[in-house]
Amino acid sequence: MIIKQRVKGFVCLTAHPIGCKQNVREQIGFVETNFTKSSNLPKNVLVIGGTTGYGLASALTASFGCDANVLCVGYEKQADNGRTATAGFYNSSAFLEYASLQGKYAKCVFGDAFSDKCKSMVADIVSTEMGKIDLLIYSLASPKRLHPKTGVLYQSVLKPYGKEFVSKNLVMETGVINQVTLQPATLQEKENTIAVMGGEDWRLWIEFLSQKNLLSANAKTIAYSYIGPKFTHAIYKDGTIGAAKQHLKDTADSLNVDFGSSGLRAYVSIQKALVTQASSAIPVVPLYISILYDIMKKSNTHEHCIEQIVRLFKKLTTKIELDKEGYIRLDDWEMDKVVQDEVARRWNIVDTDNVNALADIEGYKSDFLKLFGFGHGSIDYEKDIEEKANEKNVVFI
Ligand code: NAD
Repeated sequence: MIIKQRVKGFVCLTAHPIGCKQNVREQIGFVETNFTKSSNLPKNVLVIGGTTGYGLASALTASFGCDANVLCVGYEKQADNGRTATAGFYNSSAFLEYASLQGKYAKCVFGDAFSDKCKSMVADIVSTEMGKIDLLIYSLASPKRLHPKTGVLYQSVLKPYGKEFVSKNLVMETGVINQVTLQPATLQEKENTIAVMGGEDWRLWIEFLSQKNLLSANAKTIAYSYIGPKFTHAIYKDGTIGAAKQHLKDTADSLNVDFGSSGLRAYVSIQKALVTQASSAIPVVPLYISILYDIMKKSNTHEHCIEQIVRLFKKLTTKIELDKEGYIRLDDWEMDKVVQDEVARRWNIVDTDNVNALADIEGYKSDFLKLFGFGHGSIDYEKDIEEKANEKNVVFI
């Protein structure tokens, strides 16, 4: 099969197994050379949403940095009827293969993490093959959620709330900077987004594993979030997704009250804005990320998911510092005043004529294609390849 990139809007409909495998190998290499082991490493790690982006980086750091047994959950699809598998499928397949080569325990469950069936399957695997979970990473980004108790299907929206938002925006396909007017979400849309991306499912996971006695004493759980600068607040922090992220933080606080006596500690970690399948769907944000990339690359502070997560795991296994609102902050370099002043200066003057000088459009596009395994100079994309990926240690539900 010859696999070509087929980009449609903010998704790529194809994925390249060899390119995805190379992405995973590069991330493992980074972990192996940059993560210093301490005595306080997690032994059994569950990553919900562990097949792409921040979750995959978490699974790789747990496995190759901490030598932990790792179980991942993701919503991924096998190749079918001439379609390639999803990038997350190929990433996981590569992760499992490299883990197995080093004699490590790693497994992936592909199914709907919101369902009771998935939680039961994970609990069975944990109890029969792993022991108790001491770190649960919650890294889901989903457009919808079928509620396991009520059967209601919730759709999330990425909209401002309260009033419309007028902003500069980059049309990635053409490089044109236009002005977009985003209409505010209704209260119902905001509540639906909270139902999908808020903390209810995170809490259900913790309650379920706790009832089954599958959380170790002093277990930690972390969910990922974002805040960003003022000029993206209308679409992120103060928008529907921000409301869901506030619910996630409220959930962490309530988990700490309800499960604190068992030693569980729940955290929300604020991560840097990066190109992932989830973030490329948010209006306005790709222009911000492109400007940010240019500034951070020039100041040598640019990180990808793996650098961010290695830095997070160093904190987790040594000293966890929280800001005054109780967040772990990994967006510190992004939110540095010098960086943000320069982003704001460029944001005010950026237009179609100067965007290539002020923003790293090529870096954005290249990172986007890389998510799907494309754009590696060392790979011959004209070559007919065997599409079949390793399915050992994969459980489909
Ligand atoms: P991503 O799209 O790369 O990863 C999403 C993961 O969720 C994948 O593993 C996918 O398979 C899984 N998933 C989605 N729906 C599922 C379902 N129903 N069942 C099982 N698995 C499912 O996204 P990401 O950017 O890595 O986002 C992960 C988290 O990090 C999100 O909470 C996001 O808000 C947060 N975050 C992202 C950024 C960013 O800039 N990308 C910044 C800060 C925080």
